[in-house]
Amino acid sequence: QIIGAAGDSAMSTQNGYAITELPDSKRLRILVTGGAGFVGSHLVDRLMMAGHEVIVVDNFFTGRKKNVMHWVGHSNFQLISHDVVEPIMLEVDQIYHLACPASPPHYQYNPIKTIKTSTMGTINMLGLAKRVQARILLTSTSEVYGDPEVHPQPESYWGNVNPIGPRACYDEGKRVAETMMYAYKQQDGVEVRVARIFNTFGPRMHPNDGRVVSNFIIQALQNKDITIYGSGEQTRSFQYVDDLVDGLIMLMNGNYDQPTNIGNPDEYTVNEFAKFIKELTKSESEIMHLQATTDDPRKRRPDISVARKEIGWQPVVDVKSGLTKTIEYFSKVLEESGEILPT
Ligand code: NAD
Ligand code: UDP
Repeated sequence: QIIGAAGDSAMSTQNGYAITELPDSKRLRILVTGGAGFVGSHLVDRLMMAGHEVIVVDNFFTGRKKNVMHWVGHSNFQLISHDVVEPIMLEVDQIYHLACPASPPHYQYNPIKTIKTSTMGTINMLGLAKRVQARILLTSTSEVYGDPEVHPQPESYWGNVNPIGPRACYDEGKRVAETMMYAYKQQDGVEVRVARIFNTFGPRMHPNDGRVVSNFIIQALQNKDITIYGSGEQTRSFQYVDDLVDGLIMLMNGNYDQPTNIGNPDEYTVNEFAKFIKELTKSESEIMHLQATTDDPRKRRPDISVARKEIGWQPVVDVKSGLTKTIEYFSKVLEESGEILPT
């Protein structure tokens, strides 16, 4: 339904989301693999609101239909239940390739499947990109730096990954996915973009995702023990999901084709972060230390000078306001579903 005009663009809405009506000449057909997941669903919102046609391909391993349900029925939107390990024939202009479980408990649940998703899945998406001459963006990860010996991490650092540890299925899967991106660029001229994403949080994280932000918030809101793995002296740097989505879209549409860190350099020890969440939620939780997990990186913080220079991106949401929104989201989830025991 067309509801009016903003500048010279017509606007419409669906379920409260405002959509710019693009002329056919400007509307792209965009594939988002993993589009029913946490990051993917926010990216889909932004692309739909900009007036593009969006096709989501997802096997719903960690993603949920309800993350994109508000677009179902819109003529620009298509949801396909499909596993990227199998080839698929589509006609698209751009591919955002996100499909891959991202939290340690999920990617370690079936390591062989995680490896197949990053290798066969990325080959299939690159084959598709080559056939239809679409530009493809891979959501790689700060995990390619492993347990880094350089701090903060610039893109030029080659990393320190244990190739046979419990995190290897994910870390090495993403590393070889990056290798494949540049092999297809060099051999077949495919236009590639590689985002190395650092820890990201926000609404629609799965409550049983097992990552630190969702675990600590859910524990704090229920006044249950906040579980720190190991000493808590390890660090992470946290980015709000809206900043990430801006970065992905800017990287895709810019001219720079080398790996690019997308993250917020605001760094915390896990101990500091637990205290911060406790304060923000006014929780009475106790902080407890559990056994450290194997190969847990000791520090992580992005050097984002490449993103600043090459695509004009930097984060704009401060961690506190991002956390406030995420806490509101999880409070509602808890009201609706009762007690949640995090992974
Ligand atoms: P998520 O688990 O919420 O989303 C992943 C999506 O991919 C889910 O919808 C899942 O069902 C789908 N999927 C998994 N395997 C698939 C397969 N074989 N075929 C089709 N669909 C499949 O995770 P997220 O946090 O939204 O992460 C999205 C992407 O960003 C991932 O590639 C991840 O590696 C990358 N990333 C995320 C972070 C972060 O902090 N969130 C950090 C670094 C990298
Ligand atoms: N962590 C923790 N308690 C939890 C979940 C995670 O102490 O309940 C720690 C984890 O050991 C790591 C950091 O928090 O040092 C970030 O973990 P997460 O799983 O969010 O992401 P990672 O960066 O390790 O992939």
